[in-house]
Amino acid sequence: MRAEPQSFDRVLSSMCTPPHPTAREAAEQFLATNPGDPATYPAVAEMEAEVVDALGEIASLSDPHGFVASGGTEANIQAVRAARDRSDARDPNVVAPETVHFSVRKAAEVLGVELRTTPVDDGFRADPAAIDAATDSETALIVGVAGSTEYGRVDPIPALGEVATDAGAMLHVDAAWGGFALPFTDHDWDFDVDAVDTLTIDPHKLGRAAIPAGGLLAREQATVDALAVETPYLESTTQATLTGTRSGAGVASAAAALDELWPEGYRESFERQQALAAWLATELSDLGLDVVEPSLPLVAADIGASAFDALREEGWRVSRTRAGELRVVCMPHVTESMLESFLADVRAVRRSAVPAADD
Ligand SMILES: *Cc1c(COP(=O)(O)O)cnc(C)c1O
Repeated sequence: MRAEPQSFDRVLSSMCTPPHPTAREAAEQFLATNPGDPATYPAVAEMEAEVVDALGEIASLSDPHGFVASGGTEANIQAVRAARDRSDARDPNVVAPETVHFSVRKAAEVLGVELRTTPVDDGFRADPAAIDAATDSETALIVGVAGSTEYGRVDPIPALGEVATDAGAMLHVDAAWGGFALPFTDHDWDFDVDAVDTLTIDPHKLGRAAIPAGGLLAREQATVDALAVETPYLESTTQATLTGTRSGAGVASAAAALDELWPEGYRESFERQQALAAWLATELSDLGLDVVEPSLPLVAADIGASAFDALREEGWRVSRTRAGELRVVCMPHVTESMLESFLADVRAVRRSAVPAADD
């Protein structure tokens, strides 16, 4: 039952990427450690605290609370759970734009809270007026997305903050994917916005750490305390994570990647990826396709179902938005030559799909 993992040569839709070599090494070294039991595995527990501090620095929070999660899904579930449990509402609800990641739907289902989703504006960003209209006295949490999964868009976090403050609700920012790119843009996305209470940021996506390494940050210790349950048979007394035994490999590789890449390595990588995305968007639009301009290194383009299927058949790992657009995520493993050969295939499949149309 041995197999080789797939190569990344044609992977254009994943939000993951091969870990940085140093992160890979650290992951292997800490494979047999469990940060869920810090009294037995103190070295990895210390590294986790360092990772939380570093993630706090990235997200402009000087005294961060939180933990390394198994991913954005766990971080989002725990953010919803903390907000539910800190709220006085009898029947708490969560309000989010329809572009919210499906993990928030899982959170709502698991936690028994109502999720209200609202339409987005023409730029696929949350509309604060629509969010406001969906909010009431039972709203425990508003979720904004900073780097949406389908279009890479950044919601207007300051405006959502005003809505949350007026409603007496908490504000969570989901920057699971975007968090390692946004510091190098001029978006307002992080704890510099006073109303932001919690934030998801995943080292195992743009952070170049090995899977599994997600992150949940909280402005207040009370938010993490709201998640803590007692742990009778462990030496440490409480646990705020959803998972019990956790990946020391994820924690150690996140620590190594952050050490190696923050900030200059991430900046260089972001600038290269963003330039590639902009170039790809231009090339696709020169082919006459409707392209959603990339605000982060993610390009969506309306290419049609048969061309999409033909590209999949060529072995390209591409995916579609709910509206059916082709979606290309320019992760660190994506290079110009990869995109050139992809574009050659796009031209070829379009030629055979619309014979002689543009010759
Ligand atoms: C990927 C992603 C998630 C889920 O994270 P996992 O690590 O896959 O659990 C949540 N939110 C956003 C915006 C994402 O891009």
